[in-house]
Amino acid sequence: MTKSYLRNQLCVPVSGYNRSIIYDLGRKDYYFISNAHYDILKTDGLINFDMIPDLSERSELINYLLNLEIIFEVASAQEEKRFPKISKALHQVNELTHAVVHVNTSNNFIGFISQTPLQNLSIISPRLDNDVIKMMKSFAHLEIDSIYLYIEMFDAESFDQYEREFARQTALFSVNFFGLDSAQTKLKDNIYYNFFTESFADYQRLLTIDKLFVNQDFFLEAYNKHTYYNGKIYIDQSGNIKNGLNNIKSFGNINLMGYDEFHQIINSKLFLTLGNINKEDTLVCRNCEFRYMCTDVRVPEKEAKYWFHRSECAYNPYISKWNNEEGYLTLKESGINVSASGSIIDRDKLSETFNKIWTA
Ligand code: SF4
Repeated sequence: MTKSYLRNQLCVPVSGYNRSIIYDLGRKDYYFISNAHYDILKTDGLINFDMIPDLSERSELINYLLNLEIIFEVASAQEEKRFPKISKALHQVNELTHAVVHVNTSNNFIGFISQTPLQNLSIISPRLDNDVIKMMKSFAHLEIDSIYLYIEMFDAESFDQYEREFARQTALFSVNFFGLDSAQTKLKDNIYYNFFTESFADYQRLLTIDKLFVNQDFFLEAYNKHTYYNGKIYIDQSGNIKNGLNNIKSFGNINLMGYDEFHQIINSKLFLTLGNINKEDTLVCRNCEFRYMCTDVRVPEKEAKYWFHRSECAYNPYISKWNNEEGYLTLKESGINVSASGSIIDRDKLSETFNKIWTA
């Protein structure tokens, strides 16, 4: 008798141009599968493994998926009703969830968001000194889940001096230092201390494989919104209100406005536009299997049907390579032309390139 299987609803298959990924949202992990297997697994109902004619391939796949608990056996087809589909809708209460400020940001901002609970607050400072501590303390009366410090230069002496002070800050989640000789992470007093070799300027621009997040909250946000811009506000060093660190467009200066104007701005359609972008509406990303686990800090633009970026991501989904991997080529080198009007794929060139990389 043929056995019946259902997919664990927290294991979500996502297709890409060459391959697909099963996002294991419960265990925060992911597994690559072929696009042919994606077609079989994308159903929320009973899985039709009979679509695989080769019996050994079929049983190998079933065993692989059972071992990882991606699928499970049900006694009969009627059992399907007992395992309803999980909704992919995002329930977001506040428009503002993440603020990024510099250490010199004026008190105006703190007053304006005093009634707004934040999930994350990021504070950027060129160095670790008293101003950083003062800034953190000035937010102490607000409801903030996690505080992230980004210190552009590391200085061992001031680190020793302030480490004890950090331990007293209950919302402090991580302290990040840049420009070090070697990278490392340490956990002390429930605070992650991250030491990066790159400069802060490079860090804020780059997407790397270690910045991929697989979990249910992140997936739901990425499925519905833009994970970098959704809920974000950035106040630059001059007090300009922006969508993110790499954006040029200012929505006004925080030092020259009142409470009402500030809230009108951050709730305006224009300010919220980037946060509402969906990956399905973005050139290249719509073909990428990592699209619901990455945070893309580039500035999207739109002149035609789809959003596009003027700079390339570190991952090329058309050849399935990151830019630090052997065989990596840019989009253009692999036969993809992206412009404001759309993308054109030179399929012959891409297929020749792909075969050369992956059969070498
Ligand atoms: S191309 Fe880059 S930014 Fe776009 S979805 Fe893939 S990993 Fe994310």
